[in-house]
Amino acid sequence: MVTAADSPYIHCEDLFKIYKTEELEVVALRGLDLRVQAGEMMAIVGASGSGKSTLLNILSGLDQPSAGRVTVGERDLLTVTDDDLVDYRRSEVGFVWQQTGRNLIPYLTALQNIEVPMILEGRSRREARERAEYLLNEVGLAEKAKRKPNELSGGEQQRVAIGVALANNPPLLLADEPTGELDSATADEVFQVFRRLNESTGVTIVIVTHDREITSRVDRVVAMRDGRTSTEIVHYVQFARGEGEITEEFAVVDRTGRLQIPREYLDELGIDRRARVEIEHDRVEVRPEKPPTDSQPPWKRP
Ligand code: ADP
Ligand code: MG
Repeated sequence: MVTAADSPYIHCEDLFKIYKTEELEVVALRGLDLRVQAGEMMAIVGASGSGKSTLLNILSGLDQPSAGRVTVGERDLLTVTDDDLVDYRRSEVGFVWQQTGRNLIPYLTALQNIEVPMILEGRSRREARERAEYLLNEVGLAEKAKRKPNELSGGEQQRVAIGVALANNPPLLLADEPTGELDSATADEVFQVFRRLNESTGVTIVIVTHDREITSRVDRVVAMRDGRTSTEIVHYVQFARGEGEITEEFAVVDRTGRLQIPREYLDELGIDRRARVEIEHDRVEVRPEKPPTDSQPPWKRP
């Protein structure tokens, strides 16, 4: 039986994004699959150019996919109307960018920056002030309310940016390399703020990063490679055997049975274009195509 609890909050299936420029086409997403449950805090990692920002821009409603399926909550982002997309961007998602300068208005204080999205939504000044104070406290900057961005450190600016992104209480928070310009101690503080807000408000958080250390700070890490999700690292606690927290890495298998085999494995076994795939008791074996000599086709036998 399929219940609401089974259906993911974010669901991408066989998602494609093709950028067309005058001379060439770039396939930035090629059949990406991803499921994120409501309330999850997860990360997407991958080399530069693997399609992470493309995915986040689609999830934030800034860019439209070319084909496939992408739903967030009840909305289908492939067929959404322009009006509904405006509504989606205003009420459903908050966004934190890598460049601190892109998140904040330089001549406004930290408190005023958080108030802006609420005032644009037509909330009263008093209401906006109260919520901005609450959020500033949540990100640990209550005492720096009157500072302007250039009077705050990079990490503090990103924490204010998280407050701005959550001003209108969206159920989804997306962050594209939010700590990319920060040192690791400062990055840690920013991740702690994400974690605290995830736990206290239940907001679903997707963070893109190329920092592999993120693994220890989130529930699940999905790795992207060439426009697809290739592996997933999951933590779980094994109480029964008293083994504590376990971390395992899995290959992602899509609905049509495709999975990505790491390039190094293919190179090592000399697998190219075709492979033998067989079921062996409890496992599936993938072997090079080249057959053993005694099983050569008749026309090749001596
Ligand atoms: P990442 O964030 O993982 O570094 P991106 O999503 O930015 O990767 O880019 C994925 C691929 O799509 C890259 O090859 C990039 O050059 C290309 N790309 C991204 N945006 C555009 C665009 N607006 N026009 C053309 N190509 C793009
Ligand atoms: Mg990027």
